[in-house]
Amino acid sequence: MVLGSTGSIGKQALEVIDFHSDRLELAGLAAYSSSELLAQQAQIFNLPDSALALTKRDGMDALIRLIDTTQADIVLNALVGAAGLRTTMYTLESGLTLALANKESLIVGGNLVIERATAGQILPVDSEHSAIFQCLQAGQPGQEEKAEESDQTSKSAVKKLWLTASGGPFRGKSRNELREMRATDALAHPTWNMGPKITIDSATLMNKGLEVIEAHYLFGVDYDDISVLVQPKSLIHSMVEFVDGSTLGHLGIADMRVPIQYALSYPERWPSVEDLSIDYREQTALELGRPDYDTFGCLRLAFEAGRAGGTAPCILNAANEIAVAAFLEGKIGFLDIERTVSGALTSLSDAITARESIEQLEEIDARARQVAYQLVRQRSQ
Ligand code: MG
Repeated sequence: MVLGSTGSIGKQALEVIDFHSDRLELAGLAAYSSSELLAQQAQIFNLPDSALALTKRDGMDALIRLIDTTQADIVLNALVGAAGLRTTMYTLESGLTLALANKESLIVGGNLVIERATAGQILPVDSEHSAIFQCLQAGQPGQEEKAEESDQTSKSAVKKLWLTASGGPFRGKSRNELREMRATDALAHPTWNMGPKITIDSATLMNKGLEVIEAHYLFGVDYDDISVLVQPKSLIHSMVEFVDGSTLGHLGIADMRVPIQYALSYPERWPSVEDLSIDYREQTALELGRPDYDTFGCLRLAFEAGRAGGTAPCILNAANEIAVAAFLEGKIGFLDIERTVSGALTSLSDAITARESIEQLEEIDARARQVAYQLVRQRSQ
């Protein structure tokens, strides 16, 4: 079942499912508001109305009903934003496998989500996390099951996660240049084929910051042991450094259909939808480097919120969603995204506490959005 089927990840997932129709059967589809496209998709895959949900019309509860009625083996959560948390939790509670493209559910839900999941129940779809997941399996096979059996993760042979970043469309620009950037400048040449929200997040490096938090929870690695590595060619999709001095990396063409397919084929590997071979002899330079935390303040803010833990990443994420929407509408400038997020974290510093429940997180999320709206309104005047 695909939640968020009319978005960028959802559409690419349907390509994969269609290509592997001998191995995969689509059980249901949900989208936010693109009713026409949803109807087209349903027709192509021969789905009845009872296997569809349009959340703008039917409400978020329709997703829970859909998970219940279809009982698919795998739920691909490709919803955009914090709205994905409830369906993530419900999928895990139902004992179904969760192919997770909605990184916000982990950022907001954090330990609550992880505590609910059994070993191997969450299969990452985010390309970097899929890469790390695969490197971990290759580097220490069976570790996940062992950790679950003996209830200790301290024996992990992992030293460090290297989370790669293209650096975004504004890599190398100064603060002064960034001030003038508009949404169209960022949306013109994305490295990965993603939706507008995540493309802006790639430009601010907030996407990488959110992925650091996602990796922290998904793989149980301390923030000090997660390094962001800039690699503009997006040839390496992340690496894992082990205690014996070995580093394993995941390489390939930057194509989201690869991590989507791996989450659906796991633990098997199936042929790719199209030929994705690379002639590595032509790759003469990897051009690795450090991210610029001073110019791209959102990455720094994400590390800070991640380290603060509890409800801080929820506030960070909610404020960012509001700020990016305002930037896409041309209401605020590029650097105002960072200012809005920073302002929301400061004004809600008293509300940063341990995570307790989804209800608590939804309340903090709503408060953070309100504060961010006010900050955006002040900036846009
Ligand atoms: Mg990613």
